[in-house]
Amino acid sequence: MALGSSRVNVNNRQGIDYRQMAAGFARFGRPIIDAHAHIHGKDASKVYAEVQELFGVGVTYSMTQLHLCAEVREVMGERVRFMCIPTFSHPDKGHAFRAGYLEAIQEYHNQFQASVMKIWSSPRVREIVPDGERDVWAIDSEWRVRQCELAVSLGMKIMVHIADPDTWYQTKWSDAKKFGTKRGEYEALERMLERFKVKWIAAHCGGWPEDLEFLTGLLARHANLHFDLSATKWMVRELSKHSRAEVLEFLTRHKGRILFGSDIVTMDDHVTAKKGMPESIKSDQASSPEQAFDLYASRYYALRTMFERAGDSESPIADEDLKMVDPGKFDAMSAPILRGFGLPREVLEDLYFDAARGFWGI
Ligand SMILES: [Zn+2]
Repeated sequence: MALGSSRVNVNNRQGIDYRQMAAGFARFGRPIIDAHAHIHGKDASKVYAEVQELFGVGVTYSMTQLHLCAEVREVMGERVRFMCIPTFSHPDKGHAFRAGYLEAIQEYHNQFQASVMKIWSSPRVREIVPDGERDVWAIDSEWRVRQCELAVSLGMKIMVHIADPDTWYQTKWSDAKKFGTKRGEYEALERMLERFKVKWIAAHCGGWPEDLEFLTGLLARHANLHFDLSATKWMVRELSKHSRAEVLEFLTRHKGRILFGSDIVTMDDHVTAKKGMPESIKSDQASSPEQAFDLYASRYYALRTMFERAGDSESPIADEDLKMVDPGKFDAMSAPILRGFGLPREVLEDLYFDAARGFWGI
């Protein structure tokens, strides 16, 4: 079957042949490490494994649901490593985010030698665990602390998803009484960075690619903190608003602490036509192997174009946040400017693998 079709879709606005374009990127002495993805599904992992190979990614650190790790490992072997996440699909979400997560962390350790435990602290947790204000919502709340204690006792490092894009605080999280403030999340994070001295990754450019100055202060105050640059649409939209000089200065100053990542989410729902209720909102993103290929490949293509190439272009990926913030000006196919930062090779090597090798002590 011909994968990587040139059909125009939300993940391929310009009808690019991503397979052909992948071959045009530089090869480095070592494989790229993707520090942040979510790989699920036997068939979807096969599509993803091809994309991984095409774009020079050798190892992917994946937050895979515990019960789906074995089938992903079967397809990908040593090209995937697992990180712990709560069992989002569990019918009792309160349990999944409390004692259920302690059980899951232990199993990730026993069965899959997971080296990182993730705290997921988007404001959405307030909707998922509505009774968790005192013991679950905050990054430094009771159950989060217990989970960190267990992870650290098992020799793990910690990843945190903190906050969400500014665009979401302007729209769906704008009710601060219900969802808290973005700045408030960081006060709790800083207490945890003090309390648990292991290495941390704050995902998605520390959750605040909109404000590099704030992030520089955060990194200066906490030597154990690292970032990944995952969440392709968010990174492309917001990093592209900074000048090349600002981004280059940020990455150079924080050498060794900023890791490449995609936040690619794969699932078998992406490779089949939908019948009945989709497994999650993410399953609507593709419904054939060709569309799944474009969905996954577009992330590496956009990120590598932004980091390696020079010149501004429109992102190949439609970004629904534009319409969410300004529905009068944007539609479902609108995309932001993607700035080509044309980073020097030594900066790319640090971002693509040296920082990750340092983080994991490879
Ligand atoms: Zn993620």
